[in-house]
Amino acid sequence: MPDPALVVLIGAAGSGKSTFAATWNPSQVLELDAFRAMVSDEAGDQQATADAVAAMRTVLEARLTRKKTTVIDSTNCERAVRAGLVQAARRHGVPTVAVLMGTPVSLCVIRQTARTPGRAVPADTVRAQHTAATAAFPGLRGEGFDHVVFADQLHRLEPLLQRASDARRADLGWDGNSGLGSLLLVRRVFGDAVLPLWRWAEGSTLAGGDRIAEITLGADRLILALRTDVDGEGDYGFDLLTACPVDDECTAPAWAPAHSVTTLLDALTGHLADAPDIVCTVHGGDGQEADDLHAPYADAVA
Ligand SMILES: [Zn+2]
Repeated sequence: MPDPALVVLIGAAGSGKSTFAATWNPSQVLELDAFRAMVSDEAGDQQATADAVAAMRTVLEARLTRKKTTVIDSTNCERAVRAGLVQAARRHGVPTVAVLMGTPVSLCVIRQTARTPGRAVPADTVRAQHTAATAAFPGLRGEGFDHVVFADQLHRLEPLLQRASDARRADLGWDGNSGLGSLLLVRRVFGDAVLPLWRWAEGSTLAGGDRIAEITLGADRLILALRTDVDGEGDYGFDLLTACPVDDECTAPAWAPAHSVTTLLDALTGHLADAPDIVCTVHGGDGQEADDLHAPYADAVA
Protein backbone atom coordinates (compact mmCIF):
# COMPACT_ATOMS: atom_id res chain seq x y z
CA MET A 1 0.00 0.00 0.00
CA PRO A 2 1.64 3.27 -1.11
CA ASP A 3 1.79 6.24 1.26
CA PRO A 4 0.37 8.70 0.54
CA ALA A 5 -2.52 7.05 -1.25
CA LEU A 6 -6.17 7.65 -1.96
CA VAL A 7 -7.84 4.45 -0.75
CA VAL A 8 -11.29 3.93 -2.22
CA LEU A 9 -13.35 1.27 -0.46
CA ILE A 10 -15.90 -0.31 -2.78
CA GLY A 11 -18.79 -2.36 -1.44
CA ALA A 12 -22.48 -2.43 -0.64
CA ALA A 13 -23.95 -1.13 2.60
CA GLY A 14 -23.18 -3.70 5.29
CA SER A 15 -20.07 -5.05 3.55
CA GLY A 16 -17.83 -4.03 6.45
CA LYS A 17 -16.28 -0.88 4.95
CA SER A 18 -16.42 1.13 8.15
CA THR A 19 -14.92 -1.68 10.24
CA PHE A 20 -12.06 -1.73 7.77
CA ALA A 21 -11.79 2.05 7.57
CA ALA A 22 -11.48 2.19 11.37
CA THR A 23 -8.04 0.61 11.08
CA TRP A 24 -6.78 3.96 9.77
CA ASN A 25 -6.54 7.08 11.94
CA PRO A 26 -9.97 8.72 12.20
CA SER A 27 -8.65 11.90 10.57
CA GLN A 28 -7.68 9.89 7.49
CA VAL A 29 -11.16 8.51 6.87
CA LEU A 30 -13.82 10.43 4.96
CA GLU A 31 -17.14 8.67 5.54
CA LEU A 32 -20.08 9.89 3.49
CA ASP A 33 -22.55 8.96 6.25
CA ALA A 34 -20.61 11.17 8.65
CA PHE A 35 -20.82 14.11 6.22
CA ARG A 36 -24.57 13.49 5.82
CA ALA A 37 -24.87 13.65 9.61
CA MET A 38 -22.77 16.83 9.67
CA VAL A 39 -25.09 18.66 7.31
CA SER A 40 -28.44 17.14 8.37
CA ASP A 41 -28.00 15.40 11.76
CA GLU A 42 -29.13 12.19 10.01
CA ALA A 43 -26.44 9.83 8.73
CA GLY A 44 -29.01 8.07 6.55
CA ASP A 45 -30.69 11.19 5.12
CA GLN A 46 -30.50 10.58 1.36
CA GLN A 47 -31.82 14.11 0.70
CA ALA A 48 -28.56 15.39 2.20
CA THR A 49 -26.31 13.38 -0.13
CA ALA A 50 -25.49 16.21 -2.57
CA ASP A 51 -24.45 18.60 0.21
CA ALA A 52 -22.57 15.81 1.97
CA VAL A 53 -20.66 14.90 -1.20
CA ALA A 54 -19.75 18.56 -1.80
CA ALA A 55 -18.45 18.94 1.76
CA MET A 56 -16.52 15.68 1.51
CA ARG A 57 -14.93 16.68 -1.79
CA THR A 58 -13.75 19.97 -0.26
CA VAL A 59 -12.00 18.09 2.56
CA LEU A 60 -10.57 15.52 0.15
CA GLU A 61 -9.16 18.27 -2.06
CA ALA A 62 -7.47 19.90 0.95
CA ARG A 63 -5.97 16.58 2.03
CA LEU A 64 -4.73 15.65 -1.46
CA THR A 65 -3.09 19.10 -1.71
CA ARG A 66 -1.15 18.13 1.43
CA LYS A 67 -0.37 14.65 0.08
CA LYS A 68 -2.20 13.00 2.97
CA THR A 69 -3.33 9.38 2.78
CA THR A 70 -7.11 9.40 2.70
CA VAL A 71 -9.66 6.59 2.86
CA ILE A 72 -13.04 7.09 1.18
CA ASP A 73 -15.66 5.19 3.19
CA SER A 74 -18.78 5.11 1.05
CA THR A 75 -20.20 2.50 -1.31
CA ASN A 76 -18.39 3.94 -4.37
CA CYS A 77 -20.42 1.54 -6.49
CA GLU A 78 -21.10 4.11 -9.23
CA ARG A 79 -18.50 4.49 -11.92
CA ALA A 80 -18.95 8.29 -12.11
CA VAL A 81 -18.21 8.61 -8.40
CA ARG A 82 -15.02 6.56 -8.72
CA ALA A 83 -13.96 8.54 -11.80
CA GLY A 84 -14.22 11.79 -9.84
CA LEU A 85 -12.04 10.36 -7.07
CA VAL A 86 -9.40 9.04 -9.48
CA GLN A 87 -9.24 12.39 -11.29
CA ALA A 88 -8.83 14.30 -8.03
CA ALA A 89 -5.97 12.05 -6.92
CA ARG A 90 -4.29 12.27 -10.33
CA ARG A 91 -4.37 16.09 -10.26
CA HIS A 92 -2.30 15.92 -7.07
CA GLY A 93 -0.08 13.02 -8.09
CA VAL A 94 -1.39 10.76 -5.33
CA PRO A 95 -1.63 7.03 -6.17
CA THR A 96 -5.06 5.39 -5.98
CA VAL A 97 -5.95 2.05 -4.41
CA ALA A 98 -9.31 0.39 -4.97
CA VAL A 99 -10.23 -1.96 -2.11
CA LEU A 100 -13.09 -4.26 -2.98
CA MET A 101 -15.06 -5.67 -0.07
CA GLY A 102 -15.69 -9.36 -0.76
CA THR A 103 -18.58 -9.78 1.65
CA PRO A 104 -21.45 -12.02 0.42
CA VAL A 105 -24.60 -10.08 -0.43
CA SER A 106 -26.69 -12.18 1.98
CA LEU A 107 -24.52 -11.00 4.88
CA CYS A 108 -24.73 -7.36 3.73
CA VAL A 109 -28.54 -7.62 3.77
CA ILE A 110 -28.69 -9.34 7.16
CA ARG A 111 -26.50 -6.64 8.70
CA GLN A 112 -29.11 -4.00 7.84
CA THR A 113 -31.46 -5.53 10.40
CA ALA A 114 -29.00 -4.65 13.17
CA ARG A 115 -28.96 -0.98 12.15
CA THR A 116 -31.24 1.74 13.47
CA PRO A 117 -34.21 2.42 11.16
CA GLY A 118 -32.64 5.66 9.89
CA ARG A 119 -29.44 3.86 8.86
CA ALA A 120 -30.86 0.62 7.46
CA VAL A 121 -30.61 0.38 3.66
CA PRO A 122 -33.45 -1.47 1.86
CA ALA A 123 -32.53 -5.00 0.77
CA ASP A 124 -33.07 -4.35 -2.95
CA THR A 125 -30.78 -1.32 -2.76
CA VAL A 126 -28.10 -3.41 -1.03
CA ARG A 127 -28.40 -6.10 -3.73
CA ALA A 128 -28.11 -3.50 -6.49
CA GLN A 129 -25.01 -2.02 -4.84
CA HIS A 130 -23.46 -5.45 -4.47
CA THR A 131 -24.13 -6.31 -8.11
CA ALA A 132 -22.62 -2.99 -9.23
CA ALA A 133 -19.52 -3.46 -7.04
CA THR A 134 -18.94 -7.00 -8.32
CA ALA A 135 -19.45 -5.92 -11.93
CA ALA A 136 -16.98 -3.05 -11.48
CA PHE A 137 -14.09 -5.25 -10.37
CA PRO A 138 -12.67 -6.32 -13.79
CA GLY A 139 -12.66 -2.71 -15.03
CA LEU A 140 -11.11 -0.95 -12.03
CA ARG A 141 -7.58 -0.90 -13.47
CA GLY A 142 -9.02 0.45 -16.70
CA GLU A 143 -10.73 3.22 -14.71
CA GLY A 144 -7.28 4.41 -13.65
CA PHE A 145 -6.77 2.84 -10.23
CA ASP A 146 -3.07 2.18 -9.66
CA HIS A 147 -3.77 -0.79 -7.38
CA VAL A 148 -6.80 -3.04 -7.09
CA VAL A 149 -7.06 -5.40 -4.13
CA PHE A 150 -9.63 -7.36 -2.18
CA ALA A 151 -10.06 -6.40 1.47
CA ASP A 152 -9.20 -9.95 2.53
CA GLN A 153 -5.76 -9.58 0.92
CA LEU A 154 -4.80 -6.66 3.20
CA HIS A 155 -3.10 -6.80 6.59
CA ARG A 156 -4.84 -4.13 8.69
CA LEU A 157 -4.96 -5.83 12.10
CA GLU A 158 -1.50 -4.58 13.05
CA PRO A 159 -2.27 -0.84 12.71
CA LEU A 160 -5.55 -1.39 14.58
CA LEU A 161 -3.80 -3.16 17.45
CA GLN A 162 -0.93 -0.66 17.37
CA ARG A 163 -3.26 2.29 17.93
CA ALA A 164 -5.22 0.40 20.60
CA SER A 165 -1.97 -0.55 22.32
CA ASP A 166 -0.62 3.01 22.15
CA ALA A 167 -3.84 4.34 23.68
CA ARG A 168 -3.81 1.73 26.42
CA ARG A 169 -0.15 2.34 27.27
CA ALA A 170 -0.82 6.10 27.43
CA ASP A 171 -3.79 5.47 29.78
CA LEU A 172 -1.61 3.37 32.06
CA GLY A 173 1.32 5.81 31.92
CA TRP A 174 3.61 3.22 30.29
CA ASP A 175 4.61 5.73 27.61
CA GLY A 176 6.54 7.88 30.09
CA ASN A 177 3.69 10.31 30.76
CA SER A 178 1.55 10.39 33.87
CA GLY A 179 -1.32 8.28 32.50
CA LEU A 180 -4.87 8.33 33.78
CA GLY A 181 -3.98 6.97 37.23
CA SER A 182 -7.03 6.98 39.46
CA LEU A 183 -9.12 8.18 36.50
CA LEU A 184 -8.96 4.63 35.12
CA LEU A 185 -11.52 3.62 37.73
CA VAL A 186 -13.59 6.73 37.01
CA ARG A 187 -13.68 5.84 33.33
CA ARG A 188 -14.58 2.22 34.01
CA VAL A 189 -17.57 3.26 36.14
CA PHE A 190 -18.79 6.40 34.35
CA GLY A 191 -17.27 6.33 30.86
CA ASP A 192 -15.09 8.79 28.96
CA ALA A 193 -17.51 11.73 28.93
CA VAL A 194 -17.00 12.79 32.54
CA LEU A 195 -13.19 12.52 32.58
CA PRO A 196 -12.49 16.15 31.53
CA LEU A 197 -14.94 17.37 34.19
CA TRP A 198 -13.56 15.27 37.03
CA ARG A 199 -11.59 16.96 39.85
CA TRP A 200 -10.36 15.29 43.01
CA ALA A 201 -11.00 17.54 46.04
CA GLU A 202 -7.98 16.73 48.18
CA GLY A 203 -8.25 16.98 51.95
CA SER A 204 -12.03 17.02 52.17
CA THR A 205 -13.53 15.43 55.30
CA LEU A 206 -17.03 15.31 53.82
CA ALA A 207 -16.96 11.53 53.47
CA GLY A 208 -15.20 10.58 56.66
CA GLY A 209 -11.76 10.63 55.11
CA ASP A 210 -12.69 8.88 51.87
CA ARG A 211 -11.54 10.69 48.73
CA ILE A 212 -13.97 13.28 47.39
CA ALA A 213 -14.32 14.31 43.75
CA GLU A 214 -16.41 16.82 41.85
CA ILE A 215 -17.90 16.75 38.40
CA THR A 216 -18.32 20.39 37.42
CA LEU A 217 -19.64 21.94 34.21
CA GLY A 218 -21.07 25.45 34.03
CA ALA A 219 -23.71 25.79 36.72
CA ASP A 220 -23.88 22.04 37.41
CA ARG A 221 -21.95 20.26 40.12
CA LEU A 222 -22.01 16.70 41.43
CA ILE A 223 -20.00 15.52 44.42
CA LEU A 224 -18.85 11.94 44.80
CA ALA A 225 -16.97 9.88 47.33
CA LEU A 226 -14.60 7.05 46.45
CA ARG A 227 -15.35 4.01 48.61
CA THR A 228 -12.76 1.30 49.01
CA ASP A 229 -14.82 -1.23 50.94
CA VAL A 230 -18.15 -1.42 49.12
CA ASP A 231 -18.52 -5.17 49.60
CA GLY A 232 -15.46 -5.75 51.69
CA GLU A 233 -11.94 -4.34 51.82
CA GLY A 234 -10.48 -3.41 48.43
CA ASP A 235 -13.83 -3.36 46.59
CA TYR A 236 -13.90 0.09 44.96
CA GLY A 237 -16.94 2.12 44.05
CA PHE A 238 -18.44 5.58 44.15
CA ASP A 239 -21.20 7.21 46.18
CA LEU A 240 -22.97 10.35 45.02
CA LEU A 241 -23.82 13.14 47.48
CA THR A 242 -27.55 13.68 47.55
CA ALA A 243 -30.44 14.78 49.77
CA CYS A 244 -31.48 12.98 52.94
CA PRO A 245 -34.13 10.35 52.11
CA VAL A 246 -35.73 10.51 55.58
CA ASP A 247 -36.03 14.17 56.61
CA ASP A 248 -36.53 17.05 54.16
CA GLU A 249 -35.00 19.48 56.67
CA CYS A 250 -31.84 17.39 57.17
CA THR A 251 -28.61 18.93 55.87
CA ALA A 252 -26.31 16.03 56.75
CA PRO A 253 -24.54 14.35 53.84
CA ALA A 254 -26.52 11.51 52.31
CA TRP A 255 -24.95 9.15 49.82
CA ALA A 256 -26.38 7.14 46.95
CA PRO A 257 -24.35 4.35 45.33
CA ALA A 258 -23.36 5.57 41.86
CA HIS A 259 -22.97 2.52 39.65
CA SER A 260 -22.90 4.22 36.26
CA VAL A 261 -23.30 7.50 34.41
CA THR A 262 -27.06 6.89 34.54
CA THR A 263 -26.99 7.47 38.31
CA LEU A 264 -25.45 10.88 37.64
CA LEU A 265 -28.14 11.70 35.09
CA ASP A 266 -30.87 10.54 37.50
CA ALA A 267 -29.47 12.86 40.17
CA LEU A 268 -29.55 15.86 37.81
CA THR A 269 -33.07 15.14 36.57
CA GLY A 270 -34.56 14.48 40.01
CA HIS A 271 -35.03 10.75 39.46
CA LEU A 272 -32.67 9.70 42.22
CA ALA A 273 -34.84 10.81 45.17
CA ASP A 274 -36.78 7.54 45.31
CA ALA A 275 -33.77 5.26 45.07
CA PRO A 276 -34.01 2.69 47.87
CA ASP A 277 -30.33 2.61 48.76
CA ILE A 278 -29.67 6.26 49.71
CA VAL A 279 -28.16 6.46 53.17
CA CYS A 280 -28.06 9.65 55.28
CA THR A 281 -25.08 9.93 57.62
CA VAL A 282 -27.45 10.91 60.45
CA HIS A 283 -30.76 9.21 59.66
CA GLY A 284 -29.61 6.15 57.74
CA GLY A 285 -31.82 5.12 54.88
CA ASP A 286 -35.46 4.27 54.56
CA GLY A 287 -35.81 1.24 56.82
CA GLN A 288 -32.14 1.25 57.78
CA GLU A 289 -30.69 2.60 61.03
CA ALA A 290 -27.60 4.79 61.07
CA ASP A 291 -26.04 2.20 63.41
CA ASP A 292 -25.99 -0.30 60.54
CA LEU A 293 -23.82 1.93 58.40
CA HIS A 294 -20.40 0.94 57.19
CA ALA A 295 -17.37 2.41 58.90
CA PRO A 296 -16.92 5.41 56.55
CA TYR A 297 -20.45 6.63 57.21
CA ALA A 298 -20.03 6.15 60.94
CA ASP A 299 -16.75 8.10 60.79
CA ALA A 300 -18.51 10.92 59.02
CA VAL A 301 -21.17 11.08 61.69
CA ALA A 302 -18.52 11.13 64.43
ZN1 LIG B 1 -30.68 12.90 57.23
